[in-house]
Amino acid sequence: RSKRRGRGQITVYSREIAQEMKRSTQLEQALRNAIMADAVDVHFQPIVRIRDGSVVGFEALARWIDADLGFVSPAVFVPLAEERGFIDALSETLLRKAAEAALSWPRELFLSFNLSSAQLMDPTTAPTILATLARVGLDPLRLELEITETAVMTSADTAERIIAELRQAGVRISLDDFGTGQSSLGRLRDFTFDKVKIDRAFVSRITTDRASEHIVKAIIAMCDGLDLQVVAEGIEGKADAEKLKALGCSMGQGYFYGRPVDAAATLAYLERNYRDFTVTTREIA
Ligand code: C2E
Ligand code: MG
Ligand code: MG
Ligand code: MG
Repeated sequence: RSKRRGRGQITVYSREIAQEMKRSTQLEQALRNAIMADAVDVHFQPIVRIRDGSVVGFEALARWIDADLGFVSPAVFVPLAEERGFIDALSETLLRKAAEAALSWPRELFLSFNLSSAQLMDPTTAPTILATLARVGLDPLRLELEITETAVMTSADTAERIIAELRQAGVRISLDDFGTGQSSLGRLRDFTFDKVKIDRAFVSRITTDRASEHIVKAIIAMCDGLDLQVVAEGIEGKADAEKLKALGCSMGQGYFYGRPVDAAATLAYLERNYRDFTVTTREIA
């Protein structure tokens, strides 16, 4: 195609490609520097019991604001770190920070942490995670790892071993963004998960689109039958929450309950929302 359009076009394309490569190399360098400078942060979003809105845990979400580039979404920099082979370094920093923050929360609350697909192909992942927990002093029973269907599909054998090793240590596994991946319901039978997170794509349309409502209803019924816990992601309004409650969905997460905020604001949230929790009593205890 480029041949037919003549040499000028080829030049334009290659210049665009060159610019794109330069941009991603700059981004990579900035991200590597930020990791070394400990400048990549982690925020926390509450996961609640829909019945009464009480918090049961928090999902850690990576945040990075670069001096020159501004806010960069984790949906951009996590895949970049995967592609360039330093997701392990990024993830280790993030888990350490998240686990340290979780130490100040009530012990009943879990920390949910996202694993990238590349980490499910790397046999050092489980020992690294467990070592980080041990170093920080967070009980593995308080950790949940979120993985996606696609990640499990790509490297099934290795993924299965990593999951088994982590579960052996008491870490729980949840299937993130459920319903959107290269979905195979068989995965739910072959692999041992503890929880399923229904993707926002279905949840956000639950009050306006009958198909989405039926899909969510079916996922909840299936999870009940399989003894899997279920979380609805992306709950933005009261109507969504009420609908999910009526459908018997036990847990939820979304802007309606709370946006992701930094570690200090998470403690402030707990002081407002968690019975008998004050930052000072925890520090004394
Ligand atoms: P995810 O794990 O599915 O995280 C949920 C995303 O939905 C987050 O976006 C969150 O801020 C957003 N969200 C939560 N509630 C609502 C809502 O009510 N409405 C809307 N519109 N959005 C909501 P975020 O923080 O931009 O993260 C995007 C993705 O980046 C995450 O999707 C996850 O796949 C990845 N990610 C984030 N942090 C990490 C990390 O530490 N490690 C890894 N491997 N991936 C991460
Ligand atoms: Mg997640
Ligand atoms: Mg998700
Ligand atoms: Mg997602």
